[in-house]
Amino acid sequence: MRLVAIALGSLLAASPGAAQDATTLLHCGRLFDAESTRMLGETSVRVESGRIASVDPGWLAADDATRVIDLREHTCLPGLMDMHVHLTGEYSARSDVERFRLNPADAAYRSVAYAERTLLAGFTTVRDLGSRGGVNIALKKAIAEGRIPGPRVFTSGRSLATTGGHADPTNGWRADLMGDPGPKEGVVNGVDDARKAVRQRYKEGSDLIKITATGGVLSTAASGQNAQFTEEEIRAIVETARDYGFHVAAHAHGAEGIRRASRAGVASIEHGTLMDEAGMKLMRKNGTVYVPTILAGEWVAEKAEIDGFFPDLVRPKARSIGPQIQKTFGKAYAAGVPIAFGTDTGVSAHGDNAKEFALMVEAGMPVLEALGSATLRSAELLGVTDRLGSVAPGKLADVVAVPGDPREEVRVLERVSFVMKAGVVHRPAPAP
Ligand SMILES: [Zn+2]
Repeated sequence: MRLVAIALGSLLAASPGAAQDATTLLHCGRLFDAESTRMLGETSVRVESGRIASVDPGWLAADDATRVIDLREHTCLPGLMDMHVHLTGEYSARSDVERFRLNPADAAYRSVAYAERTLLAGFTTVRDLGSRGGVNIALKKAIAEGRIPGPRVFTSGRSLATTGGHADPTNGWRADLMGDPGPKEGVVNGVDDARKAVRQRYKEGSDLIKITATGGVLSTAASGQNAQFTEEEIRAIVETARDYGFHVAAHAHGAEGIRRASRAGVASIEHGTLMDEAGMKLMRKNGTVYVPTILAGEWVAEKAEIDGFFPDLVRPKARSIGPQIQKTFGKAYAAGVPIAFGTDTGVSAHGDNAKEFALMVEAGMPVLEALGSATLRSAELLGVTDRLGSVAPGKLADVVAVPGDPREEVRVLERVSFVMKAGVVHRPAPAP
């Protein structure tokens, strides 16, 4: 696989973003049109210099200078986008101890494989919502510079929490190790800290801000849902973030924290497990996007049945919160809350991201809308619809394909057969 990718894109490996000089013509059996949320029939997609040059019905003939990629038995999709991943880790029964044993460099080496798996699974763009030691920012740069293969990364750097909150980096530690982390480490108490923490993320090279507005499942703390920021603190974060062109993503399980975050102007609510009707109404009114992460809920509920997998404080939270996300998602979808695709991968295994689609469809979302959430809706959340989110002339040539029709079998989305990112083929189409 890697050898072929290198052969096709050897020049590009050194200078990514620049793409093949030759024109490429994709002959697609079907194409998902994210702009209309419709499935088109036989389509030709012309790619030049890493961008989409044209999209035409039927399979156009090619001249000698044009490379044709045969995807006539496949469905072509815009590069998929996952709005909630953690590319620098993968949760296991050892995670609790590894926090003390691993250095950022260890996480960095692991993240190289995680990034490649994500890309080969068809996800050409991701939003990474938090890691320590600057690893996700370094990873983003390494991918953007073409040093390693991976999805295009938009990252928050460190998450922001209040003292003892879900993303407090010394939460649950022995008293003499706890210390008193502050804005530099992502811990905020009061509006001055809030502003400083946002500015620190800017200084470090983050693209957006992530806060943990309520308790969470995997932190060593008692509550998985209590509100952990005042509305005033969240407002200070959102306002400061705007000065730097950042949006704010808010992890939130409990209803009160969801309402505070939406009123304070965050762009997205992550997980949203105990969202009530008032919360759904507020989110619709404020345009707050819901990123459900059903897959992570299912995964923690499953692992909670294994003795000793989670620390004692975590297990009951995983059992009670995990299984509820899918039902909440179904209600939020029916209530018209705007939805972008996200999995919290890094809890579950990297490369399994597309398993979220079947869970969304099972909860009542039509598959084409689920695909819209993972393409144009996600591009809207990131503010990048000028270059990503659909296969349309002028946009970056991020095109993936699956063998068959997702309308007939949603799980074909878990078997991505072709991946092109900015005109560079990373997973070649199988011989027809
Ligand atoms: Zn997360």
